[in-house]
Amino acid sequence: MDSSKLHFAIVACPGMGHLIPELMLAERLVTHHHIQVTVLVVTTHSWPSQSQILHLPNVAKTLHVIYLPPLDISGLLDPGATYVTQIVVMMREARPAIRSTISSMNRRPDALIVDLLGTESFVIADEFDMPKYVYIPSTAWFTALTFYCPVFDKELKGQYVDQSDPLAVPGCTPVRPEDVVEPMLDRNDQTYREYVRMGIEFSQSDGILINTWNDLECSTLRALRQNETLQSVVKVPVYAVGPLTRPVQSSGSPSELSKWLHMQPGESVIYVSFGSGGLLSAEQMTELAWGLELSRQRFVWVVRPPIEGSADASRNGSEDGTPDYLPDGFLTRAHNVGVVVPHWAPQVEILSHPSIGGFLSHCGWNSNLESIVHGVPMIAWPLYAEQRLNATMLTEEMRVAVRPRVSPAKEVVRREEIERMVRSVMESKEGKVMREKMKELKYSAEKALKKDGSSYNSLCEVIKDCEVRLESKKAKVGSQY
Ligand code: UDP
Repeated sequence: MDSSKLHFAIVACPGMGHLIPELMLAERLVTHHHIQVTVLVVTTHSWPSQSQILHLPNVAKTLHVIYLPPLDISGLLDPGATYVTQIVVMMREARPAIRSTISSMNRRPDALIVDLLGTESFVIADEFDMPKYVYIPSTAWFTALTFYCPVFDKELKGQYVDQSDPLAVPGCTPVRPEDVVEPMLDRNDQTYREYVRMGIEFSQSDGILINTWNDLECSTLRALRQNETLQSVVKVPVYAVGPLTRPVQSSGSPSELSKWLHMQPGESVIYVSFGSGGLLSAEQMTELAWGLELSRQRFVWVVRPPIEGSADASRNGSEDGTPDYLPDGFLTRAHNVGVVVPHWAPQVEILSHPSIGGFLSHCGWNSNLESIVHGVPMIAWPLYAEQRLNATMLTEEMRVAVRPRVSPAKEVVRREEIERMVRSVMESKEGKVMREKMKELKYSAEKALKKDGSSYNSLCEVIKDCEVRLESKKAKVGSQY
């Protein structure tokens, strides 16, 4: 079969940490493998602006992106529903729209790729008799833990965070109880039940695509593919296809930020950002501001108002426009030393700038990959999702990041420690070693994506697998007549 004729549909989540790598997977399939791709993006009334934030002109030209009608799921959620539960419910409720969109297409897709939170759409693939794959915009380690969680669910009693021993995922680095992913924090929560279900449903797919690459997670990928105990739950092929990250976009005339970055010495600026949704308490923001100031390093900080209710109501902002949750006069003192960007910054463009020397990050997997592909060492500040796991990988296995002694999700990281970490990444010998390691990873990532590189070849294998399944389906239909 001529693969140029294959048509894949990708069902994407509205969260930026999912949508961006899903569009990048689609883009890769189109431009490097000549597959026709339609991306179906699930949307809601409360998350419409994110798509507008995405400036992906290259992608827009090559891809067919359909934004499904916005869903109203407010009546379906408990008041404290977690982010993961919200997305899972959205993906569930979007099924009628996914089904009708696919059935009305002139050219039906040959295969369905779903976001890891959308495995309930497998029924649609089955109805249309399409091969079905899962795309995991995270690590192989996270994937192994998710696959194995249903086993832990049967074998372990009590909360995972209270276990005295690390969780032994066969063939993989054990997971420390304090590092478990957010859905495993409370076994009584709906998110946990959804997470266990996902682990089971992964093995009902025809294959798992992961945004990682062989050289980065060699032993975990080997365990997923070959370890007998782990294989007994995985059952399906695992493809490492990454790192798929957003390309740098040139936006015509340079922004004020890029003009400022151009004026700074090489590798002298630390970039601070907590992803698309990370928030800090007002107290933590004050400490972070002081920590940056004390470190005497240049910085770019993407600032969002603090977690609701954490600000001191008796404080007012200062005359220079510094908001009440930052130290008085911070913006005046930061003038020429740092730039505060409200809400959202062009992260990839910033990380790719030669003046950037470090990244203080919440350790979302896309941010980690973006830091790796630009060779920037990190300060790991995990907040939620699988970020503690990612932080452990960055600091203890890859050794390209430092991490606070306390968990930032539970305690306030004090200014002295922030100062120490920033200095360590930006000006110490340790920082230099981390930077060199990051550069090695950058080259290894480039190699994986090149023609005949491991990730390039993995995607070829996915396409081949799909072709074989379609051929055998055709042969079956033929033999019935
Ligand atoms: N991002 C960005 N500007 C921002 C914050 C985030 O461009 O100010 C992008 C970032 O480059 C990454 C994505 O949003 O591609 C965030 O994904 P990640 O997995 O790092 O974290 P999440 O938002 O899912 O927690």
